[in-house]
Amino acid sequence: MVVTRFAPSPTGYLHVGGLRTALFSYLWARRNNGKFLLRIEDTDLARNSQEAADAILEAFEWVGMENDGEILYQSRRFDLYKKYVAKLLDEGKAYYCYMSKEELDTLRETQMANKQKPMYDNRWRDSSETPPAGVEPVVRLKTPLEGDVVVDDGVKGKVTFSWTEIDDFIIARSDGTPTYNFVVAIDDALCGINHVIRGDDHLSNTPKQIAVYQALGFEVPRFFHVPMILNEEGKKLSKRDGAMDVMDYKRKGYLPQALLNFLIRLGWSNKDQEIFTFDEMLAMFDPNNINKSASAYNLEKLDWLNSHYIKNTPNETLANLLEGHGVAITGHDRREILLDMAKERSKTLMELASAIKAIIDEPLEYNEKDMEKSVTPETSAVLNDFIMVLSDGKERHLPSEYQEMIDAFVHDKGVKMPMLGKPLRLALFGVATGPNLADALAALGKETVIARIEKFLKQL
Ligand code: GLU
Repeated sequence: MVVTRFAPSPTGYLHVGGLRTALFSYLWARRNNGKFLLRIEDTDLARNSQEAADAILEAFEWVGMENDGEILYQSRRFDLYKKYVAKLLDEGKAYYCYMSKEELDTLRETQMANKQKPMYDNRWRDSSETPPAGVEPVVRLKTPLEGDVVVDDGVKGKVTFSWTEIDDFIIARSDGTPTYNFVVAIDDALCGINHVIRGDDHLSNTPKQIAVYQALGFEVPRFFHVPMILNEEGKKLSKRDGAMDVMDYKRKGYLPQALLNFLIRLGWSNKDQEIFTFDEMLAMFDPNNINKSASAYNLEKLDWLNSHYIKNTPNETLANLLEGHGVAITGHDRREILLDMAKERSKTLMELASAIKAIIDEPLEYNEKDMEKSVTPETSAVLNDFIMVLSDGKERHLPSEYQEMIDAFVHDKGVKMPMLGKPLRLALFGVATGPNLADALAALGKETVIARIEKFLKQL
């Protein structure tokens, strides 16, 4: 059974890059009828918080990604980790190191001065020296002294590290708390995780984790180290490149399907297919096909995908989503007309909301420049005539019925379209430009249209 996991450190919000590796792990587990586990790596008690863990869960819920089983919090497992430290000490696979911070600093400076890579020099590894009084020791793992360790990575291929580059790293600090590389390996092993899909910033940690697996006799999982997402300048994606918090995408009016579709294509592809339904993602995603090179974040692509998903979302669903953006549309027909009109041109729900508000909200003022350009000596007469025709007693509901009325009006009165259209838009929306008039008239209804024109005429 394929068991994958997502193991964020809760320090703030869920980052889009994190969501991408979570999605990869999720899809791979689901595709194989396996399990997708969630582990909160909150051993850094000073930097981690429950709010941050909740923010991750909120983002998972928004995109509809469910984890299996209970969420594992590392902060609740310190006793367990201590048992493994004790076991390794007992078996002589780990040892206490009493080196002081000053000694470590001196060592590092000497190594740097000699152009050597700074690393621990194993001085307490096989020492029979009496420990200095008053020093709380750290615990270090004995890593192999020679030979190579090969990470057979599903994305990078075989990556070889020399054990001579991996020092006897600390597995428990002097206050007894365990370190990152130690607990990651223990939890992955104990949870039966056999496919680890994560960012390639963790590749350099992998030999250390392998050392832990080996020391404890655990089976090493298959690793997939996913290249970073770069910004449009080719640098690592950072906060300055736009929304990093997954929930910011929700606030800005992106649909979760669009975001997931966008993310799956960052680093993975199936020929030149751009649009993936969720079922297609499930059927096609394979971490063995993740690209070796970094992928570039492209906001235009996300906007393009989002407008695709907006156009293909039923109006009823869109209307519900728009309530979260401060727009309430009443009436079935009105909803259909307004959304059919506005969704064609909106890249986000926020844009859709403002396009609709521009129609349904009564204008509070009239654009001065547009007034100067569009209001002529004939405007009052034209709009008064238009009110007369609107009030002719005929039932009109559909945009096509209003279009017929407008066509007949300009024909019968012998006016050019802009002489009606510009001031009419000003009266309805406060600006001389805007959506198709017939659609807007149908959406607003006769009473509202007449009231807005009358109010406008009073200002002339
Ligand atoms: N907690 C690590 C992080 O948030 C991830 C660890 C892992 O995936 O192995 O970067």
